[in-house]
Amino acid sequence: MSRSRDQEEDGGSVSQQVNTEILEQLIELRAKVANLLGFSSHANYVLEMNMAKNSNTVSHFLHDLYEKLKPVGEKERQYLLLLKQAECQRRGLDFDGQLHTWDLPYYMNQVEQVKFAVDKDKLIEYFPIEVVTEGLLGIYQDLLGLRFHQVQNPHVWHDSVKLYTVLDSTTGEEMGRFYLDLHPREGKYSHVACFGLQPGCLSSDGKRTIPVAAMVANFTKPSRNWPSLLQHHEVETFFHEFGHVMHEMCFRTRYVEFSGTLVETDFVEVPSQMQENWVWEKEPLRRMSCHYIDGSSIPDSLLDTLIVSRVANTGLMNLRQIMLSKVDQALHTKSSADTAAEFSKHCEEILGVPATPGTNMMASFSHLAGGYDGQYYSYLWSEVYSMDIFFNRFRHQGIINPKTGVTGAPPWSQVWGLGTQASAWWPTLCLQDSAGPIFP
Ligand SMILES: [Zn+2]
Repeated sequence: MSRSRDQEEDGGSVSQQVNTEILEQLIELRAKVANLLGFSSHANYVLEMNMAKNSNTVSHFLHDLYEKLKPVGEKERQYLLLLKQAECQRRGLDFDGQLHTWDLPYYMNQVEQVKFAVDKDKLIEYFPIEVVTEGLLGIYQDLLGLRFHQVQNPHVWHDSVKLYTVLDSTTGEEMGRFYLDLHPREGKYSHVACFGLQPGCLSSDGKRTIPVAAMVANFTKPSRNWPSLLQHHEVETFFHEFGHVMHEMCFRTRYVEFSGTLVETDFVEVPSQMQENWVWEKEPLRRMSCHYIDGSSIPDSLLDTLIVSRVANTGLMNLRQIMLSKVDQALHTKSSADTAAEFSKHCEEILGVPATPGTNMMASFSHLAGGYDGQYYSYLWSEVYSMDIFFNRFRHQGIINPKTGVTGAPPWSQVWGLGTQASAWWPTLCLQDSAGPIFP
């Protein structure tokens, strides 16, 4: 508990002051540029190229989502308070009846242990990396109507890197190539990511240049004496990131500018976020797992507990995303702003948790200086689309069914390949069977 508080108060030091000044200067300069270009705010300037189009739409979207999630978050907040009260009694401490920022991660972690109790040590035994990889590649091939072939003796930057060629399973045409670089080594990039290495496009002679991409991760390397076993959240990350690789492979656009993941910021995560649903369903989970010693399947009871645990803390976690998105919008629809005050106001209003005095979380919120200025809502926006597509389409029509889609839309694999046009098709997939459009 105290470690989180120390870390937070540490944020109230020199770096906070320096970053706050830079950020507030950035906000002023962005507003000036937007005005010179004829926009009423920086948010409206950057949003013109997104699905949302303007800050009014974003504001309605965030408000609607907030209204829906408020009761869920309130219920979770009350439960966290009960946990805190019980702990204070047990330890003989005064209970102040309030949740502070440093209490949230501490008690949210307790919720997972007390309420959902997934045996993570047992679960990991069923996810050896070789089995997960084979299952995952198989699922994507079936879903998108593709065939992958591993290239023998490829020209690669490290022995452990594998190269695959991607073929259309009907025509046999080569669609693209991808590398899997899954294990850590000294000096390697330390996050999980998909890098586009060569964008696909049509050249002037009408021939197609195929796309090439690499998935980079840092999963433990198996050794002779010990297998590499993945945590369930790592399987989810693998599935998500490989979704970006497939997004790169499938597109069939003419120009590089509109290829692969070069789509609207509030759309780019939709395919990958939707694919995350596959690791919360029994059929694909069974296909990607078996016990590393005896090859047995995951017991049903373990799968049931895992699947139920998906909803742990979702109300509060999504409200936090709404709060950050609203702060971002507030900062980028003004010509100047007090970032600490704006954060404090929204934190109290939306999460019911006061910001810690003397700190400014915005000073370490790197998204605002890393390309998500005015666009942090994109994570929630694409999450809503991806969930709607999954539950309206795949849950009904089969989660490993390449024909899943709607009449009049291109086949599923082609929907992945439409570049910027894709954002016009994907909403069709989620809205046709719904009661009505979820967005204005
Ligand atoms: Zn992603």
